[in-house]
Amino acid sequence: MTAAARGAPRWWVFRGRHVLLRERWTADPHADPDDPRPSGPLPDPPGGIRLRIAVPVDSGLASPDPPGEGPHDPAQLVTGEEPPAPEGYGWVDLRVAAAWLGDDLFRRAGRAWQLLEWHRSHRFCGVCGNPTAPGPYDALTCTVCDHLHFPRLSPAVIVLVHDGDRVLLGRGRHLPEGMYSTLAGFVEPGESLEEAVHREIREEADVTLTDLRYFGSQPWPFPHSLMVGFLARWAGGAPHPADGELEAVEWFRKDALPRIPGRVSIARSLIDAWRAGAGT
Ligand SMILES: [Zn+2]
Repeated sequence: MTAAARGAPRWWVFRGRHVLLRERWTADPHADPDDPRPSGPLPDPPGGIRLRIAVPVDSGLASPDPPGEGPHDPAQLVTGEEPPAPEGYGWVDLRVAAAWLGDDLFRRAGRAWQLLEWHRSHRFCGVCGNPTAPGPYDALTCTVCDHLHFPRLSPAVIVLVHDGDRVLLGRGRHLPEGMYSTLAGFVEPGESLEEAVHREIREEADVTLTDLRYFGSQPWPFPHSLMVGFLARWAGGAPHPADGELEAVEWFRKDALPRIPGRVSIARSLIDAWRAGAGT
């Protein structure tokens, strides 16, 4: 795929959290929604464009960027009752599609979906209650008082806690059967990222930390998170589900890990990095 092809704006069409993709992307037999890695790299179709939308779809909302003109991919949100996919296309949950799309396209699809969700859920001004309309800088402008409403972003910390050979993983209630993941929580007003890490881990698992190290970050458009990843060493406390957010929190050794999140998530990147020796 050429840089020009990758950079060209393309349409994304969504139905709820499902994105419309060409059928070849939806027919993969390895499309386990909990671990959606395909068995090998998917071939690029002729022309080098992995995804295109060229069908008329009933649109409830259009992006402020017309196709080909804006710096970002335009997108449409499909409204109405469960419209069937056009011939040759299928609806795929964006979380599942993430692994197939790869980092670059997932980032773009996630951005498109996040902005659509922002527009869908902020149709009225929070200051004066009148309708909003697309404005500059991805913002929505109030049609009466001109207040600018910028897209909502919710920073969250996600932390791999280890004590060398063991990693502390938790079972959130939303996770698939048997899956454990790194601990995470939203940053609160007035709090630094580091303070959020210490507070969240203390609240969720009743342990204290030391040797906190920044790892990396990942936009996570479900619906508007920015995940900020850290590695930290356990300093004290017997882990247990302390505030009811987790069903279980347990130590696991590198050679006996439970089911863990798929490769698209920063949780998995943190676990893979620790397995490779990071932080220890
Ligand atoms: Zn207003």
